[in-house]
Amino acid sequence: MHHRTPSIQSDVAIVGAGPAGLACAIASARHGLKVDVIDAMQPSIDKACGEGLIPDSIAALSALGFDRNEDFCPFETHQLRGIRFFGAPATVPTIVQAVFPGTPGLGIRRTVLHQLLLQRAIHLGVRFHWQNSVQGISTTSTGTLIQTNRQSLTARYLVGADGHHSRIAAWAGLTQSRLHSRRIGLRQHYTLAPWSDFIEVYWSDHGQAYITPISPTEICVAFLSNHKHPTPAAALQHFPELQRRLAPALPSDTPRGAITLGRTLHRVTSGNIALIGDASGSVDAITGEGLSLCFRQAAALSLALKTDNLAAYQQAHRRIQRLPTLMSRTLLLMDRHPRLRTVALTTFQRHPRLFERLLQIHIGHTPIPLFDPTHLLAT
Ligand SMILES: Cc1cc2nc3c(=O)[nH]c(=O)nc-3n(C[C@H](O)[C@H](O)[C@H](O)COP(=O)(O)OP(=O)(O)OC[C@H]3O[C@@H](n4cnc5c(N)ncnc54)[C@H](O)[C@@H]3O)c2cc1C
Repeated sequence: MHHRTPSIQSDVAIVGAGPAGLACAIASARHGLKVDVIDAMQPSIDKACGEGLIPDSIAALSALGFDRNEDFCPFETHQLRGIRFFGAPATVPTIVQAVFPGTPGLGIRRTVLHQLLLQRAIHLGVRFHWQNSVQGISTTSTGTLIQTNRQSLTARYLVGADGHHSRIAAWAGLTQSRLHSRRIGLRQHYTLAPWSDFIEVYWSDHGQAYITPISPTEICVAFLSNHKHPTPAAALQHFPELQRRLAPALPSDTPRGAITLGRTLHRVTSGNIALIGDASGSVDAITGEGLSLCFRQAAALSLALKTDNLAAYQQAHRRIQRLPTLMSRTLLLMDRHPRLRTVALTTFQRHPRLFERLLQIHIGHTPIPLFDPTHLLAT
């Protein structure tokens, strides 16, 4: 294969400037590595997302050098106090809620988060190559040659942060995986003062509606379902309580769809190539854990790159993915089995402490008590 002469050489080339790629770039640059990031799109990159940073996502961002008070200050965000579940009124009208222990979460528009991460990466000296679609890779004596539609780059390490349909994973032979779930997400913003400081999840036989306040005047609604809702208005018909609340609101942009997968890869590294973010496996969006995984993986991967030990990243990745995968599968059982959902929600309603404990485990605040239910119920 003929290549143009490579003009750029770096320690790490990252394909994909989504949250995973940007977080990895920031963490690697903080370790003193020379980083290039390549993306087929150009900023600011938007994507269908629930737009909630739960407290463990913020803790993971702190580990990457972000200060919650200072760095988020210039941007429009909304504090999130906890999570509230609404059962389908057709069965038993249940409402359960739990407050995040410690610091609150943050609702933040996806494009704003992208801007925040990008500014930090640029400040740290990361080089960006926008509108460069990676079309092939090959091994050289010093690392990997990356061919885009516009140029060639060489790097000692190559990171695939290129999302669910990662071409880097395919070229590196890392696509062997277990698919736990596949659902469709649809996001719509509405201009409306948030009526609550909680992330609200409305459950129905047609999936969930996930509400995140993202500014004093805007909320984000993400519908998650096994079937494609043609429009947000059609989706809302399955959530009458929410439909009533949103009646005075105006949609503030065009809706955006995305697939959400529960997927575990057998391996996330091969030679000098590593995967991160959705490219490296994912959990269903209902967990709100996708971004936290990206940020935690970024810390682990950058350390592995710095110490030339990708085997350590493979191990860390498995550890980071374990609990969110368990939570994702548990929540999807509630989605698939209406009777189980009713039993779970009414049990949580009767024992609010149980829901609180599960939330604490979910956000990594409390270790799993080996699923001894009496321990969970103890106050
Ligand atoms: C409906 C929905 C709601 C969600 N809600 C939440 C939530 O509330 N909280 C949360 O934490 N997580 C949530 N998530 C999950 C979260 O959005 C993902 O985990 C996150 O986007 C993964 O980021 P990423 O950087 O791995 O991938 P992406 O954001 O998909 O970025 C991949 C990048 O790679 C680039 N790329 C791909 N191929 C190439 C190529 N060949 N050459 C160059 N560039 C390439 C793309 O242009 C893109 O910019 C949600 C997901 C969905 C679908």
